[in-house]
Amino acid sequence: MTKSLPLIFTAPRRGKPPVHLADLDPAARKEAVKALGQPTFRADQLARHYFGGLTRDAELMSDLPSAGRQEFVDAMLPELLSPVRSMATDSGDTRKTLWRAHDGTLIESVLMAYQDRVTLCVSSQAGCGMACPFCATGQGGLDRNLSAGEIIEQVRLAAAAAKDGAFGEPRRLSNIVFMGMGEPLANYKRVLQAVRMITDPNPGGLGISARSITVSTVGLLPAIDKLTEEGLQVRLAVSLHAPDDELRDTLVPVNERWKIAEVLAGARRYADRTGRRVSIEYALIKEINDQGWRADLLGKVLKDALGHLVHVNLIPLNPTPGSKWDASPKVVQDEFVRRVQAQGVTCTVRDTRGQDIDAACGQLAASEKDKQQ
Ligand code: SAH
Repeated sequence: MTKSLPLIFTAPRRGKPPVHLADLDPAARKEAVKALGQPTFRADQLARHYFGGLTRDAELMSDLPSAGRQEFVDAMLPELLSPVRSMATDSGDTRKTLWRAHDGTLIESVLMAYQDRVTLCVSSQAGCGMACPFCATGQGGLDRNLSAGEIIEQVRLAAAAAKDGAFGEPRRLSNIVFMGMGEPLANYKRVLQAVRMITDPNPGGLGISARSITVSTVGLLPAIDKLTEEGLQVRLAVSLHAPDDELRDTLVPVNERWKIAEVLAGARRYADRTGRRVSIEYALIKEINDQGWRADLLGKVLKDALGHLVHVNLIPLNPTPGSKWDASPKVVQDEFVRRVQAQGVTCTVRDTRGQDIDAACGQLAASEKDKQQ
């Protein structure tokens, strides 16, 4: 039988999501279960259902005693995100879902099926405080940090959707990119908690390889250094967008705090420690950062800072409401790629999924209003 709930399960203040199994480490899960009057082995049973079975449906948990089961599951696996709307495009291979958190906060995540993998683009914050002028998320400012449970719920729900035939055949969610709403390294603790739970083997976690996770950042240097110390194998992506500080100051305002050379030196330490190439994201903006000389400079700056441990991912600029900027013409883009590569740096163009449903890079804005109106 469920006892009265301990303090950590009391009604949350607005903005603070209820505590969930996925907010707790294994020892704390046992404590929480015990506080609910249940034997501690039930923590593993619940984890098996949640991380292994990808469910929070009490009815499917026949190994739990039926008396008080629903209350127990509600307390340990409260509903953190409810779907508001789902939209699909790219012949059904890209699906954006708008979620509502317990306090009305809205976030989005995007699930993408490819031939060889299924990737989830996950949000780490509601909104974003980084204020990059070409990004729709940045325009609305920061709403709040997501809890580890809210991040993991996006992953669990996506994994369940893929398994349950969102793309026809059952598919396994294989890759996670922290490229949705928010700056993951500004919500460091929760993002790291989530990364550990995504990578922990079943039943403690989702059992997805760290090498298949990408954490993308505007370049919060102290947090990059901290991540280096974690000794994880996750891929680091840096949103650079300009090879020179003068321009980057205007495109990525946090550059005023940590300059390109410092950020790239931090990225180099990360690459040296993990042996993994760093991805450099570069949204190509017509007549802003797409000049040939900037391509040459980008290649040179990256080569000097990172040697072979770098890869450039060009993102054709996606349209955002009210933006005065456009994507570069294809010929300019091709020339840009060629000139970066001529410096000995690999460079590819990101396939922009989901543009027509505002699900592409920089378009997530989590509004309940229908775009068409
Ligand atoms: N805050 C993190 C995570 C977001 S990742 C970061 O900035 O790295 C989203 C990526 O899409 C970032 O590289 C971002 O700069 C880029 N982006 C933002 N707006 C865009 C737009 N309108 N078109 C193309 N890419 C954009």
